[in-house]
Amino acid sequence: MTLADPFGRKVTGLRIAITSRCNMSCLYCHHEGEEAGPAGQREMSEDEIVKVILAGADLGVKRVKFTGGEPLMRPDLESILKRLPEGLEVSLTTNGTLLAERAKSLAEAGLDRVNVSLDSLDPGAYSRITGGTAEDLDRVLEGIDAAIEAGLVPVKVNMVVLKENEDEVWDMVDFARDRGVILQLIELLDLSDHGLGGDLSRIEKELESRADMVVTRDMHRRRKYFIGGAEVEVVRPIDNTEFCANCNRLRVTSDGKLKPCLLRNDNLVDLGSADLEETKRLIEKATLIRSPYFCEGRS
Ligand code: SAM
Repeated sequence: MTLADPFGRKVTGLRIAITSRCNMSCLYCHHEGEEAGPAGQREMSEDEIVKVILAGADLGVKRVKFTGGEPLMRPDLESILKRLPEGLEVSLTTNGTLLAERAKSLAEAGLDRVNVSLDSLDPGAYSRITGGTAEDLDRVLEGIDAAIEAGLVPVKVNMVVLKENEDEVWDMVDFARDRGVILQLIELLDLSDHGLGGDLSRIEKELESRADMVVTRDMHRRRKYFIGGAEVEVVRPIDNTEFCANCNRLRVTSDGKLKPCLLRNDNLVDLGSADLEETKRLIEKATLIRSPYFCEGRS
């Protein structure tokens, strides 16, 4: 069974926000496109999360990524993981502060790999960007080591490129090479329009000139640079028609709504209390209303 939208884009991945709660306050955070709900907003239960994944898997979904908020704020994540079908690739993106103590149990419960957000190795810049302390930064680094140790590989380190941290990119490339992790350089989605974003075009030119090899991934047509043993992937969605044309994911909000696009909130499909069969029907419905945000004539 294959899900495809009217633009011929297959849906093979679910990106699921399992909470909107977070223990960090990153100054650029897009909250996965979720509109701020009332304090104490409804959060999907373990059963609801498992149900939407089982429904997706029945319809041909192959990959699930948990996000948030901070997904490790949920104590029932291991319990959710243990209920997922074999054969799905399951990953999560985390700020890493709570990862060291959970990496082993998450791996044992069936998690395949992790992305760890790390915008700076400098405690001052880290604090200005994330609101975290030097101790938090240490915990993130311990979390990365624990994830590698637990086999949650390849570990990807997500760095949103900002004016604040753009001079650190090459230190991060060295860090990625030393630790054996993949560095993802992410273009800022500047929702607050405060001009926080760094110059990723300049950085990408430097990557290109120093790279031993460049490959293009199917997923979003992301470019990946191999530089002296380091792997660096560049994620540039903004005004990028190719990115949208190759988007294969459907999102799920923390309060249980299917969300066809990060940048839109006018086409959400509420899962409500749907049973498994109805959930499949709603996934098909959400797939049919997907449309590329950046496309010819709009970019
Ligand atoms: N708390 C988790 C974490 O830090 O990974 C999961 C949620 S966070 C919203 C998921 C990813 O989105 C992080 O890698 C973060 O850096 C990225 N992100 C958040 N706001 C962004 C923005 N405005 N532009 C680009 N990426 C952003």
